[in-house]
Amino acid sequence: ADFSSLGLSDWLIQQCKQVGINKPTEVQENCVPAILQGRDCMGCAKTGSGKTAAFVLPVLQKLSEDPYGIFCLVLTPTRELAYQISEQFRVLGKPLGLRECIIVGGMDMVAQALELSNQPHVVVATPGRLADHIRSSNTFSMRRIQFLILDEADRLLEQGCTDFTKDLEVILGFLPAKRQTLLFSATLTDTLQELKTIAMNQPFFWES
Ligand code: AMP
Repeated sequence: ADFSSLGLSDWLIQQCKQVGINKPTEVQENCVPAILQGRDCMGCAKTGSGKTAAFVLPVLQKLSEDPYGIFCLVLTPTRELAYQISEQFRVLGKPLGLRECIIVGGMDMVAQALELSNQPHVVVATPGRLADHIRSSNTFSMRRIQFLILDEADRLLEQGCTDFTKDLEVILGFLPAKRQTLLFSATLTDTLQELKTIAMNQPFFWES
């Protein structure tokens, strides 16, 4: 298969070529069409499988059709992953003039709050810090969110279990119920099945 048969637009395929992404990986081949069709998606995929582009590409395509308000929220377990994901959005989304913002611990809360109130298209965050922002301010809205992405969900859940559950509750409560939720994880644990029940709607399931 090639990217156009997955339903991606020419401008995005050109952008992929520029960064050496020519042929879809397995996770992309399977998940991109389901995501473009509007389905929730649960993918079992490790780092290196191309899982980041598997959600970045369809999100960029949808965003190019209707960019209004914070469009996509990505939750990821570490600061490093947040930077890597943001970079893929930045590079592939260049023709859109995409504004993305990174919300992770250890950085200035005030500067981050300003960025959040500035209507970025994509927010890439670690859950603890984003929940802090939601608790402490009402200067930004996530009512327009179309996509919630839970990246490396198994590791997200390992992060001091109880705190994370509280943080996730705060975040989910702040998001519209009508949205697409995409979950990627190297392993599918029982806790992830729970997460599927509370956060997802009959997801397309893919495992290599
Ligand atoms: P990930 O699994 O998302 O951490 O991605 C690993 C690396 O593979 C990243 O540097 C991507 O830019 C790259 N990549 C993603 N999709 C493809 C593809 N279809 N062909 C070649 N490289 C890719």
